[in-house]
Amino acid sequence: MTKQKKTYAIQTHDSFLEQKKSALLNAVYENHHQTAQQIYYDILKYAEANPKFSENQEKRLNQIQIIIKKFFPDPAKHSFPKIKMYNNRLKELILFSIKQSSKNILHINFQTWEKKLGLHPWQKDLLYKTAMTFQLTTGCSNFCRRCNEWALPKVRSHFSFNAILKIIRHMADQTNDEISLYGASDPLDWTEDEKNISDIIKFLKNLPIEYSILTKVPKGKESLLKKLLKMNANLSVSITSKNKARIKRIEQEIEKSISKQHDLDELLIPAGLDEDFVSVKPSITDGYGTEITPHGAFIIIPTFTSALHPFGHKKIRITPDTNFFPIKKTGRKALLVDYFKPLEGYDLEKNICHLDCLLDVQIESIILDNGSHELTPPGMRSLKEYLSIFEEKPRLQRKKMTLSVLKHLKKQFLSKTAFKDLSSKNKCFYLKKINTHLNLCKKADCLSTKLSAISFFLESISYYAHKNPVKIKIMRFLLKNEMERIFDTCTDIISHRPPENLLSDPDIDSFDIFRFYVFCLLNKSNDSAVLEFIKSYPSAYDSFTDIFVQNPSVE
Ligand code: SF4
Repeated sequence: MTKQKKTYAIQTHDSFLEQKKSALLNAVYENHHQTAQQIYYDILKYAEANPKFSENQEKRLNQIQIIIKKFFPDPAKHSFPKIKMYNNRLKELILFSIKQSSKNILHINFQTWEKKLGLHPWQKDLLYKTAMTFQLTTGCSNFCRRCNEWALPKVRSHFSFNAILKIIRHMADQTNDEISLYGASDPLDWTEDEKNISDIIKFLKNLPIEYSILTKVPKGKESLLKKLLKMNANLSVSITSKNKARIKRIEQEIEKSISKQHDLDELLIPAGLDEDFVSVKPSITDGYGTEITPHGAFIIIPTFTSALHPFGHKKIRITPDTNFFPIKKTGRKALLVDYFKPLEGYDLEKNICHLDCLLDVQIESIILDNGSHELTPPGMRSLKEYLSIFEEKPRLQRKKMTLSVLKHLKKQFLSKTAFKDLSSKNKCFYLKKINTHLNLCKKADCLSTKLSAISFFLESISYYAHKNPVKIKIMRFLLKNEMERIFDTCTDIISHRPPENLLSDPDIDSFDIFRFYVFCLLNKSNDSAVLEFIKSYPSAYDSFTDIFVQNPSVE
């Protein structure tokens, strides 16, 4: 029933370990301990056959070990002692890998790194243009419990100094003007011979590129911190109970206060060793863009932090097939991105374009977004807030603001030229913008836009559900309380009324109804009305007017 969507090479398949991690979660959620044991055996065999783990593989294996620790605190009790055996063996393999890699610390040169990526020149340009994180080392010497990045313990490899300078220069050439020098690492860990992060900062000072450093100040790096402070480096110290007293002492010694972050309990979202794999939490990833690490390059899409995405983002490996790079947006600009709309980015010709469908990872966020304020930080719009703009009160407010909206559009399009002198493309854009505003002030059009948006989201979920049965089960588990509440409160209201009728009733909360239909799709139960609704309201995203519209290409 779903129409075929155009696929982009940015939609990659999950790796073997990612698939096994999902299957393992499902087995433990469903108390299928025998299945969990078999899956763990497959994971172990894979790890034994491929003992040189990449950074992301080792992170996955660490997550798998935490899952086992949480759900099988005493495997003998579950009468599956083999799980304990497999767990011990996997632990040995990981420890051996840590020992090997931290004994032979590599400095990765530019040619080796670039050759391994194997990207086309246009891809490299876009990688550097959209880079937001430049991780200088693999591994971190701080061992934080709540590491949202699941950084590997101990430093294993560094980019060489020359590689770092080359990459930074490429970023500057691509007019990238801002880069974070951390990721799953502490920038003060980076060294090569006598060089350290201060040498990189000196180089950066001569380029039109802002940088930021976030550090926990690894033990033994206090004098380097003082040196950086003397240089007025743009750094912040991330405070934990472990380094708080040490940083205070340094402040007293230098008689200066240091910029600090995370010194608040509410910012400490459990992650890493404290991840529970049963709750959905906000994301602490505040950016769309690419990440460069000694092990490769990735597109980063923020997500809620959950068993599905314990990093709070999805890392999509950039390969020679990648044909779309999201536009870099960080900080406040990233918060303003509506995560539930098709992404804006660059195509093969480096032109700005929009995808015509949602990425799987965005659909997962829609499914997990229960509309609570705790999930979305201030400044970020949840789907519930988005749907509320189609209600009567906001519609009337929009109507009142028509004059100022028209003035704003006039200023935007006609400040330097008269309407008759606009290009035909801009004439069309100008009129389309005016019409969109006027239409959203009309009751019937406002409702039709809302129905198109809801149909678009439901169709995306329906399409996703067919392809991802295992992840759907994980989300059903994570959402079981909300699902029960929604079924309890909505089943009677819904009775036999069609979706369009319920969604246009001002006395019924449209978001609850939407969630009810989402759960019907997840459960594949009572979903015929939803599927009929999707068919009756074919929709598409119009990137120019930034609204969902009836899809003219579908009869
Ligand atoms: S310093 Fe940062 S990257 Fe390193 S372990 Fe702690 S939180 Fe993770």
